[in-house]
Amino acid sequence: MILETLTVGPLQVNCYLLGCAQTQQAIVLDPGDNAAAIQAALRRHGLKLVAILATHAHFDHVMAARPLQEATSAPFRLHPAERPLLAMMRRMALAWLGYDPGEPPEVNGDLLAGRPVIFGAETLEVRFTPGHSPGGVSLIHHASRRVFTGDALFAGGIGRTDLPGGDLPTLLASIRDQLLTLPDDYVVLSGHGPASTIGEERETNPYLVEDAWWTP
Ligand SMILES: [Zn+2]
Ligand SMILES: [Zn+2]
Repeated sequence: MILETLTVGPLQVNCYLLGCAQTQQAIVLDPGDNAAAIQAALRRHGLKLVAILATHAHFDHVMAARPLQEATSAPFRLHPAERPLLAMMRRMALAWLGYDPGEPPEVNGDLLAGRPVIFGAETLEVRFTPGHSPGGVSLIHHASRRVFTGDALFAGGIGRTDLPGGDLPTLLASIRDQLLTLPDDYVVLSGHGPASTIGEERETNPYLVEDAWWTP
């Protein structure tokens, strides 16, 4: 599988480009900004975009989805519980960045647990990992032992839960039941910051170790 990470936008979102090396079909995950750079990367690899996906709909993860959708006519998919956040994208971007990203993308389909994402010969498992936002999902590429966690789990951290629809117990349950159940060697590729592994987070993430100081 072809994988390229582009760090985009003022909030430094990791946008992932995943391509099937046999068929040149590709998906883009969390196109937060800079549609031109994402399209240039697609061209550089000779890839054809077949779907635009978002782990969740915070504005920093979806601002380039509409321009990509208009340029390629690839469908945009996310979890249905994220649609209200998506509708707030423009307002949130204006409030946080003082920047108008235009209209949010049109939603063309759902991203649901148990319904794999297929592009060419590659498959991603979808797991429901809410808590940072109401309909957050993580995507797993078992063939290369990688998990894309969005803003649920970071290297050494977890997503904030003080934004609308966020909930700390829900997030911790998502991480424990859906992510830490993966093998230790799975590489964690999150929405911001560096990569890690499930084993590293299980052992050293201060929010996940047993008897963490903040445990309610
Ligand atoms: Zn977020
Ligand atoms: Zn984010």
